[in-house]
Amino acid sequence: MKLVLASNNAKKLKELDTILAPLGWELVPQGELDVPEVEEPHCTFVENALAKARHASQLTGLPALADDSGLCVDAFGGAPGVYSARYAGEPRSDARNNEKLLAELGNSHQRAAHYVAVIVFVRHADDPQPIIAEGEWHGEILPAARGESGFGYDPLFYVRALDKSAAELDAAEKNRRSHRGQALARLVERLLASR
Ligand code: IMP
Repeated sequence: MKLVLASNNAKKLKELDTILAPLGWELVPQGELDVPEVEEPHCTFVENALAKARHASQLTGLPALADDSGLCVDAFGGAPGVYSARYAGEPRSDARNNEKLLAELGNSHQRAAHYVAVIVFVRHADDPQPIIAEGEWHGEILPAARGESGFGYDPLFYVRALDKSAAELDAAEKNRRSHRGQALARLVERLLASR
């Protein structure tokens, strides 16, 4: 099955592709099919993911997969949440987002945070019954960056069970544990059950 992925984030594509390729599903990033990025105007992950999936499917005529994800920090009441990619404003920059997160948290001892991912699959643009799956990954915000892998907030996201930051995990280990890995595993289960 050929699916359009409503994202051009190369690292995200690689994470998703590693999990989906063994099932024989070919993911094509929307940029390769000339689909422009759509606004993400909503205040929930699920609404943004649905908007992206419907848009990509509408323009390509293909089934579409979209995810929306972000980091929710307890001390900030769940912010930056759906605004994670643009936390430090435009142009979007992981380095500036991480700097801002460290500055806003300061020396606070309340450093719990979790990643959220919602993945949506639509068979066609007007699909009345999209398949929706969610995953969460809990950790703490480190006082300084550690590690070189991953992307986004990974160097600051500490996984206590492993005594490592998410950026110190190899891709396979991150996929096994991450919010996106969990959401995708649930999505695949539901997709297989609905075939
Ligand atoms: P999206 O592309 O709108 O889903 O933006 C998600 C943003 O949340 C990314 O740009 C990162 O800032 C953050 N994020 C989501 N998942 C991860 C992850 O696995 N590692 C690090 N940052 C992430």
